[in-house]
Amino acid sequence: MTSNSEQTTKIQTGEDYINSLRGRNLKVYLFGEMVEEPVDHPIIRPSINALAKTYDLAIAAPELASVISPFTGERISRFLHVCTDAKDLVLQNKMQRKLGQLTGTCFQRCVGMDAFNSLYSVTFEMDEKYQTSYHQRLKEFLTKMHRSNYVVGGAMTDVKGDRSLAPHQQTDQDMFLRITKRTDEGVYVTGAKAHQTGCINSHWMVVMPTMRLGEKDKDFAIVGAVPVDAEGITYIYGRQSCDTRAMEGGSIDQGNAKYGGQEAMVIFEDVFIPTENIFMDGEYDFAAMLVERFTAYHRRSYVCKSGVGDVLIGAAAAVAEMNGVPKVSHIKDKLVEMTHLNETIYATGIAASHQGYETKSGAYICDSMLSNTCKHHVTKMPYEIGRLAQDLAGGLVATLPSEQDLNHPEIGKLLRKYLKGKADVPTEDRMRMLRLIENMTLGRNAVGYLTESMHGAGSPQAQRIQIGRAMQLEYKKRLAKIIAGVIEEEEKDLVVAELSGYFERVFKI
Ligand code: SF4
Ligand code: FE
Repeated sequence: MTSNSEQTTKIQTGEDYINSLRGRNLKVYLFGEMVEEPVDHPIIRPSINALAKTYDLAIAAPELASVISPFTGERISRFLHVCTDAKDLVLQNKMQRKLGQLTGTCFQRCVGMDAFNSLYSVTFEMDEKYQTSYHQRLKEFLTKMHRSNYVVGGAMTDVKGDRSLAPHQQTDQDMFLRITKRTDEGVYVTGAKAHQTGCINSHWMVVMPTMRLGEKDKDFAIVGAVPVDAEGITYIYGRQSCDTRAMEGGSIDQGNAKYGGQEAMVIFEDVFIPTENIFMDGEYDFAAMLVERFTAYHRRSYVCKSGVGDVLIGAAAAVAEMNGVPKVSHIKDKLVEMTHLNETIYATGIAASHQGYETKSGAYICDSMLSNTCKHHVTKMPYEIGRLAQDLAGGLVATLPSEQDLNHPEIGKLLRKYLKGKADVPTEDRMRMLRLIENMTLGRNAVGYLTESMHGAGSPQAQRIQIGRAMQLEYKKRLAKIIAGVIEEEEKDLVVAELSGYFERVFKI
């Protein structure tokens, strides 16, 4: 295949997907060198394997991870689907939890899914106001993606420069992706997007503004789709804690040798976006709506972490068993606490989806209050779950000798003898489980499970702002005043129809 935009065959299996990534001549840098073939790079490959799992799950569990495309009539990944009822939203979450369980890491496919779900309604409303044709273009773009069953990445996070200044006020105007040139055929954009999940593993990328924009920021109000191998794009791979263990050979010390996440910086230097792939151009007044709607979807997509949490809880329980103490009461209690925290993440995410509602376009969107609450839990709870996993693992999680030592003809025997727990458990199995806990709390996949949980889809303060805006204190004060006898209850207080915002959705039957 020469270019994504030219591929016509439909990707079905994980293997098809991996093959589709070969030979694309992407400009990817890692450790100061250009990577010849990302698919075969030992540090990059685990992230590709994780994404490939989304295709394999679609075949193994079609009801969970695939849908029939309304555009092509064919079965495609659920990650490419625009939700048209609350059940669709809920099923996204169930698929995300399952994939977290299967990979123990970030499978990188949710940003694009959440991007075009939000764009579906925003383009509809932009067209309504400005008589533009973005919505139709988006549908045509989606049809093309459905035909090939592609991976679409979303690129939102600009590098932002001086955080106190608006995009147009920056000394260096490239701190936010912007239009640098226009022709009759389309626009050229320049800028950089930081920590872009799975970008190199995608076929296409949708660029979007990162925040609310004003009139003077018109050139920054650009949404468009580009193939990841478009001219002018450079990727600089984000390295992760302990990533070079993948280059040492062996499979024990990596903890999770098969799967990993991927984050990279994407630099755009005069990258062309043809008119047919532009879904916003200058409508700065819709940038905030797009960001808010995107976060309503994306902040509950973080139920993925409950699936990853299931793996970590399992690892902690397995280590306790290998140590011979599975029934000790404080150990059981810690596993209960970890489960309680993990299910709290899942509960708020799935509730945000269940309480989803219809937009004017017909697409369903998640409840923003519950979605923000889910993501806010995710900024805290995995850290506590990780702490408890390390507690149950014991100090060996950070002092274990290497795989090479275990395989050494002399000292290997000593390690197998002295690192044994329960007599019937091979020492190597115990080491593998400890390495998995290390991987998820200190190593490669702590990037996704901990720090990405903190900052992905907006850092904690971003959720607090949204929760603060929607918390309806006047309504709650009124409830308290009525109960306390400060004011009289009126007939209308009993009428659910008079509620607005979050509570309108809570009481909607
Ligand atoms: Fe999906 Fe979770 Fe990865 Fe974000 S962190 S892309 S929600 S798996
Ligand atoms: Fe993310």
